[in-house]
Amino acid sequence: MPTKRNRAGNQQNYIEAGHGDASGEYGDNATGSNKHFTVFKKPDGEEKTTNEPNIAVTPNNDKTVETTKNFEEYVDKNFKEEFGQGLKASFNAGNDYQKDKLGYFTSNGIIKINETKGNSYYDGSVTLNQRQISQKKGSFSKEVGDTLYHEFGHAYDEFFAKGIVDKDGKTIVEKMITEEDNEKLHQNNKSFVDALMLSGNLSTNKYLSNGKTLYETLKDECHKMVRGKVWDTIIKEYKETAKQEVLKKFPDYYSNKEKASKLRADIEQEARDKFPYKWNVSASEFNANEKAKRDYIEKRYEETGFNQLWQKSRENDFDVSRIENETLKKYSNLSDMYGIYKKIPYGFGSGHAGSYGKNKGALAHEFFAEFNSTTARNDDFAKAQMELYEKYMPESTKMAKELFDLMDKAWKGAKR
Ligand SMILES: [Zn+2]
Repeated sequence: MPTKRNRAGNQQNYIEAGHGDASGEYGDNATGSNKHFTVFKKPDGEEKTTNEPNIAVTPNNDKTVETTKNFEEYVDKNFKEEFGQGLKASFNAGNDYQKDKLGYFTSNGIIKINETKGNSYYDGSVTLNQRQISQKKGSFSKEVGDTLYHEFGHAYDEFFAKGIVDKDGKTIVEKMITEEDNEKLHQNNKSFVDALMLSGNLSTNKYLSNGKTLYETLKDECHKMVRGKVWDTIIKEYKETAKQEVLKKFPDYYSNKEKASKLRADIEQEARDKFPYKWNVSASEFNANEKAKRDYIEKRYEETGFNQLWQKSRENDFDVSRIENETLKKYSNLSDMYGIYKKIPYGFGSGHAGSYGKNKGALAHEFFAEFNSTTARNDDFAKAQMELYEKYMPESTKMAKELFDLMDKAWKGAKR
């Protein structure tokens, strides 16, 4: 296995890029996957490595980040006004416990925040796009705070698994993945490579009271949902919910659309009957027939009031797609799970691109990160998302809660 210098300055084994989540820092997909160098044990004692040391992760690139006493100061010192405002708003969308935790990680330089013009992602530090963190309420796809707490979810998934070291090199939280977890992971993954591809995160490697990791739980539950046609129910429910929301505001919306398209089809049929397609005629005769048909259609549009109806059927399009998107937002986590599990890009309307699903463990990484965001925020969407999880993915939700309780316990016992 090749080695590279890790962030603590020691040589450490790593998996080369191109192996999805198990890849080192230079992996090809930054979104939410684990980018640390990883040490694995082979099952039968061959190539035994010692326990993985805690990795001191300090701000590591380009700009030095000044550490401060609290998050607001950290933001003021390190970011320009525009980005800082959004960041603070996002931070304040979290509850006190989450704010305390996130504030400690950033203000002590354990996890650095970077700004980008591209997508937000986690790859050892959290990189955020200004537009995504400062979303105003009501805009599509994200609530204020969602992106920030989501990306920090990815960070916790990895940091708590490996143990947390403060800026002075003192271990403040012991690693949560134990030898027993590692043994079990190898027992449950027949091939060594399969186990290797799982990245050493809580969501993929921590065994829970149901005898599975969150990842194994999710895979089994998603499979069950396919067999029981639960996904079909969810998609139907989502579409029906969106439709009902639209009807509350625009009772005639769908019927106007239907009427308009039926009327148009009828008129076009009438015109075709009246002016049948002429072939084997001179060009001028052909053109004259086509023109007469078009004129007839225009005339009928006038007479039947089609033009007004068409206008009317379109006037609320913008608001309607906003309402539909609001509904989709509540279902977006489920849609993402569906997409990753079934390898369908963007699920049934929202989520990751298809390539992301190739990362082993992606299902669990996203569930974990989303769960962090959902539990961190107090808004109505977070509540609605949790209700949907509980309703449709009860086993995974239960196990995620258990895992988060373990993580909370570890954090409450942190020596900071
Ligand atoms: Zn993510």
